[in-house]
Amino acid sequence: MGLESFREEVRSWLQTHCPAAARGPGEAIPIGSIRPIDAELLAWRHALGNKGWSVPTWPRAYGGGGLSRAENQVLQDELRAIDARMPMPGMGTSMIGPTLLEYGTEEQKLRHMPGIVLGDVAWCQGYSEPGAGSDLASLRTQAVDKGDVFEINGQKIWTSGAQFADWMFALVRTDPNVPKHEGISFVLLDMHQPGVAIKPIRLIAGSSPFCETFFDNAQARKDDLIGQLNRGWAVGKRLLQHERSGQGGLGEGGGRPLGPATTLADVAQRYVGVDASGRIADPETRERVTRFAMNTRSFKLTQQRAREENTSGKTMGEAISIFKLYGATLTRDGADFRTQLMGSQGHGWEGEGFATEELDATRAYLQTRAVTIYGGTNEVQRNIIAKRVLGLPD
Ligand SMILES: Cc1cc2nc3c(=O)[nH]c(=O)nc-3n(C[C@H](O)[C@H](O)[C@H](O)COP(=O)(O)OP(=O)(O)OC[C@H]3O[C@@H](n4cnc5c(N)ncnc54)[C@H](O)[C@@H]3O)c2cc1C
Repeated sequence: MGLESFREEVRSWLQTHCPAAARGPGEAIPIGSIRPIDAELLAWRHALGNKGWSVPTWPRAYGGGGLSRAENQVLQDELRAIDARMPMPGMGTSMIGPTLLEYGTEEQKLRHMPGIVLGDVAWCQGYSEPGAGSDLASLRTQAVDKGDVFEINGQKIWTSGAQFADWMFALVRTDPNVPKHEGISFVLLDMHQPGVAIKPIRLIAGSSPFCETFFDNAQARKDDLIGQLNRGWAVGKRLLQHERSGQGGLGEGGGRPLGPATTLADVAQRYVGVDASGRIADPETRERVTRFAMNTRSFKLTQQRAREENTSGKTMGEAISIFKLYGATLTRDGADFRTQLMGSQGHGWEGEGFATEELDATRAYLQTRAVTIYGGTNEVQRNIIAKRVLGLPD
């Protein structure tokens, strides 16, 4: 089918299946079995999943759309054209799904992919522990072989969305008597079992996006070991590359872009003022806004070039850290700058003296303290770039 007739097919399919409730600004469309979801949005989520368009470029055999890059571009353009909100921003499609495609057995793929593709199963990431963050390989959560299952004891921390998760992918220690990277395994486990307890942690921005997760004789099925026993480090690192690919703006993405609708230039003109010719009045602010806009545009073009040059369609290797580092820094600094431009109006928490946009800016400022930390801190990304991309000595 030619691209133009494909575009027609996409347009008409979206007109039929994407309800008004899934278009324009609004809450992310829930995934998983715990968060309540409106019937119309559930129908949209399932229609998209059944069509294979929640993961457009994945192979059809595992529920994907089997689309070429060009066809996927058409789909993404059409989703954006109707301002559709996508139901799949979760860790299923962006992290564990691609990892299973590369490391899972046929049986594992067939068992787990339908829930991921339809969004019926929400996933969380059990990596970090109180004593293992940047030095992740020091993790101590132990998994002991008990025949058909591993018995898991220990604790994870900062588990995003654990309170809404149905399943977890986790790194666990299966051999404590070998060098630390060599005794780690990658397992999947059901969160709805008596041995798993979670405790939400409240963040400075007010919400509780993550949790402490405790394992007390929790179980993971042996056939949910991904890759080989004690070789989980390689699987875990690859998953992080998929995670960073999304964070660095190279994921499949789609639909409505997140983030504020107004540009920094709009904000500067409004709060700092304009001169007689309509330019931002203060030259220093004008230069900063211009530099920021240029850096943002250059980064977008670099993302586009990287996507076009990636003929394999596979997630980039260690070089993805460059995108994660730059994208996270730009996001954090953009939120800082936005609140600075608003002056004291950009530091409100609540109350009638503040417009919604100002309160949103404060919350975005607080939330973006995290972007240079999760998925590996900026320092960790720099270490990877130095050692693994540039080949500099330790
Ligand atoms: C919002 C949010 C969501 C998260 N979600 C998840 C999740 O879902 N699942 C999960 O497993 N984890 C999650 N994390 C945890 C995240 O991966 C860790 O916070 C991160 O890896 C850093 O680890 P740490 O907090 O232990 O800090 P530490 O490792 O203690 O680091 C403290 C500081 O020391 C610096 N540092 C450490 N080692 C080095 C080094 N070798 N060289 C230079 N500097 C260094 C770090 O850059 C940092 O500035 C989340 C974190 C946040 C903020």
